[in-house]
Amino acid sequence: MVTGTSLSHVFPLGSRLNERGRLEVGGCDTIELAREYGTPAYIVAEDDLRARARAFVQAGRQAGHDDFHVAFASKAFPCTAVLELFAREGLWCDVASGGELHLALNAGFEPERIVLHGNAKSESELRTALDRGVGLIVIDNFDEIDRLELLLADFQSAHAPTGGAAHARPRDAPHAARPSPIGEGLRTHDQDVLIRVTPDVRGDTHDHISTGQADSKFGFGMAQAEEAIARIERVDGLSLRGVHAHIGSQLLELEPFRREAAELAKLGDFPVWDVGGGLGVAYTEDQHPPEIEEYVGAIVQAAHAHGLSPDRRLLIEPGRALSANAGVTLYTVESVKSNVSRWVAVDGGMSDNLRPVLYGATYEAHVADRFGGQTRCVLAGKHCESGDVIVRDALLDDPRPGDVIVTPATGAYAYAMASNYNGVPRPPVVFCKDGDARVVVRRESFEDMTARDVR
Ligand code: PLP
Repeated sequence: MVTGTSLSHVFPLGSRLNERGRLEVGGCDTIELAREYGTPAYIVAEDDLRARARAFVQAGRQAGHDDFHVAFASKAFPCTAVLELFAREGLWCDVASGGELHLALNAGFEPERIVLHGNAKSESELRTALDRGVGLIVIDNFDEIDRLELLLADFQSAHAPTGGAAHARPRDAPHAARPSPIGEGLRTHDQDVLIRVTPDVRGDTHDHISTGQADSKFGFGMAQAEEAIARIERVDGLSLRGVHAHIGSQLLELEPFRREAAELAKLGDFPVWDVGGGLGVAYTEDQHPPEIEEYVGAIVQAAHAHGLSPDRRLLIEPGRALSANAGVTLYTVESVKSNVSRWVAVDGGMSDNLRPVLYGATYEAHVADRFGGQTRCVLAGKHCESGDVIVRDALLDDPRPGDVIVTPATGAYAYAMASNYNGVPRPPVVFCKDGDARVVVRRESFEDMTARDVR
């Protein structure tokens, strides 16, 4: 039995086992939360999200970079309440589709604090981004340059009285006050863009979330960068402000980020660097990722060492490092059986957390009111796939039907990748703070699942 009131770093900040031995998150008793809101349920400690956002921002200043900005990678937890919280904390937002752009704007992010990504941006997504005046579009490929050029030229021929002679604004020049190229009246300056490269830097992570290698679907190869830069600079209405790379996710070492900075510097002298996200998190107690301050310190140091002066703009795009450990998922045990293994089946699974099936992600699990169990079990989901296993090697205290099980570190890419597989409604999101709980996304209903049917 785990004693004391503080839990491992895998749990949301401030979590504890209360006097009854029950897990408390954000001051709320998880057994009571399960009773009140049902299971499965995503439980989020609001103050944890806030604390991490502040830690990232402060770490940039402390490391000596004033023009340092933290863009939450919204794909990690695209839930309005989470986005609103980060918008209020002054973060920027990274979006990778028209839908994420919609969510970010709806949650109150200023358009100029939004960074649009994507290796397959549609015309409509680009048009909306131009119309709404997003801060940065991160250009991924030559086709996208063509598409942007056409969109901007279309608009200019439709609206500019004399048409515009093609010219590129020098990188350091202030925005020219000239007529809106897209969305009459909405735009007053060229669209700022970054060029995304794959710097051929690999971190030690799963293939599916490694993105910086040369043979990647994201961005321009280093050898193509010069041509891409020249091409962007010739497009009237685009202003190339800088460079972007995201080398991969769940990185537990800092060295790859330093190598990334060295590669970005080779592209030339730019006023904006965006080094992506990727800082890993602890999914299980034995994992010890770098602290936020260490990571930010290393990024800032490497950027300075490779020529980015402190008055230039430096962006990072953490996803999981902002939200993963703020969340836990609660389940209820439905059945327990033993054959070769002891199988503990719960009322959720791959429909609320796809990561174990998608890339073998490991989690830990506990009975929410009996921590410290030693019975080796397979924590299985309820879906019709043998691969639907949430935790292969869970150490649980003699689990029985009706027990509430908690899996920590599910605040990133769980809600985001949830589905209705097997007709299972998606769980609610419950924010907890100082002992008060509030539902910020309600549980999906069976009616929701037929709401889009056309008969
Ligand atoms: N930025 C970009 C461009 C990404 O593709 C991703 C993840 O896919 C992220 C940031 C966030 O990654 P992480 O959640 O590992 O920080």
